[in-house]
Amino acid sequence: MPEGHTQTLDREFLQSILDGIEESIVILDKDYHIVCHNTAFIQWLDKPKKKTLGECCYSVIHDQPVRCTPCIVRETFRTGQFFETSHSHEKGGRKVYHETKSYPIKGADNEVRHVIYIFRDITEKALIEERVRELDKFKKKILDNAGVAINILDGNGGIMNANKGSEELFGYAEDEVKGEPHSMFYRSGDKELLMKAEKEALDKGRFMGEVTLVKKNRNEFPADLTLTTVEDDSGKVVALIEIVNDLTQIKKAERLIKQQLERLQRLDATKEEYFYATSHEFKTPLTSIVSLSKMLSDGKIGELTDKQKEAVSLIYCDAKRLRSSVQRILDIAKIEAGKMVYNFENVQLEPIVDEVLSTLKVLIDSKSLKVGTNVGGKIPLVWADKEKLMLVLENLVNNAIKFTPQGGSIDVKASKEGDHVLVEVRDTGVGIPDEDREKIFEKYYQVEHGEGYVGGSGLGLVICKRVVEDFGGRIWAESTLGEGSTFKFTIPYKKEGVSAKKRR
Ligand code: ADP
Repeated sequence: MPEGHTQTLDREFLQSILDGIEESIVILDKDYHIVCHNTAFIQWLDKPKKKTLGECCYSVIHDQPVRCTPCIVRETFRTGQFFETSHSHEKGGRKVYHETKSYPIKGADNEVRHVIYIFRDITEKALIEERVRELDKFKKKILDNAGVAINILDGNGGIMNANKGSEELFGYAEDEVKGEPHSMFYRSGDKELLMKAEKEALDKGRFMGEVTLVKKNRNEFPADLTLTTVEDDSGKVVALIEIVNDLTQIKKAERLIKQQLERLQRLDATKEEYFYATSHEFKTPLTSIVSLSKMLSDGKIGELTDKQKEAVSLIYCDAKRLRSSVQRILDIAKIEAGKMVYNFENVQLEPIVDEVLSTLKVLIDSKSLKVGTNVGGKIPLVWADKEKLMLVLENLVNNAIKFTPQGGSIDVKASKEGDHVLVEVRDTGVGIPDEDREKIFEKYYQVEHGEGYVGGSGLGLVICKRVVEDFGGRIWAESTLGEGSTFKFTIPYKKEGVSAKKRR
């Protein structure tokens, strides 16, 4: 075969090899002119130029009048070495990314005559990677600005990320903890607790609890911990989010508040003790004043003038009021000390109601109130302490009188309700706002009813509640503001009724 023909065959053979390769290949001479290329290169160019052979590589590949810097082709010509790199450049107004390689073709004198320049367009992959990097940055920004310490863990508890809050709280830089197990933040004795937390998070999706954690400087601190799992679409746990809230300041504040509270409670107890002791001191002289003023006003220690009688009656009334206030304070003291003694017996309600109403007759008449009762008939005997029951009724009727304007009415009613008797004291008075209806049973609580309805101690209903509950019943109020109130309480009528002593 003639030599020229063999050369043509070799050339065709080589070209077909080059065309069979996916990557773009150009062969360049020392002046960077393209002496040969494959089909992949022409396809990559999009708009094949009329002329590529003999043109400078940079003008064809990069649309540039000058060589790129750095240029691996130049380096291969200069050093005779193979080079590879990746770089980006503009192509048709958009950024393209290439993975490039340059191989030397040397002559017999070992001089580099040509360079094979191979490149692969990796724009799509590079853009995805860039997007992932941007998302990572965005994620980091969010995590860093979350305001709490957050560690992202892999499914086995290995730390993948630690945000700024975590770095500040634990004192480790993110790079120091990446890849380490998150147990490094826990006390060595708390391994079991940690396992429990992880198990709960994996089983239920979340663990929340208070733990003690350890900083880089080995200082321990109380923390509120949340471990939440992140699952992929198939439900496999791919990460755990560990959120840590430092409770040091809160715990400190809690301790301080507790100390202050205990101090206040001690002060309160001392104050109440003094209050009860003083009240007790009042009781004996007040009893003398009440009985002596009564004897005086009844003329039992000699005749008085009308004016003197009027004055002594006033003393008698005020002293009696004062004595009942003192008695309430002493009752409360007894209740709180658990020393209230009950003498349970079967009690008939009607005579007690009558007695209470007759005791309060003067007050009822002074306001011209109409009083109705319905406590007789088939009402069973109740299981109670007679005196204490009277105390409850007296308090309720006394309040009804106090908070009902001139000419209003009061009704006392009883009915059978299951194994209890329900007693109701209804008035047509000022009423009680909804928000106060439960609070009036608290110590010293009084509603602001406006002028004309002041006075009292705020203790009567506390005593009523305690006594009724010790009887085994309950007490509550129903009311419509401006129309009136009904106080209701229940007492068991069975002999097995709960006794006060048994309840404590
Ligand atoms: P006191 O009557 O001595 O203030 P109580 O414990 O008996 O103490 O009552 C607490 C408060 O409940 C009263 O101050 C009053 O504001 C309210 N209250 C009690 N009974 C009535 C009532 N029948 N009508 C309206 N308000 C009432």
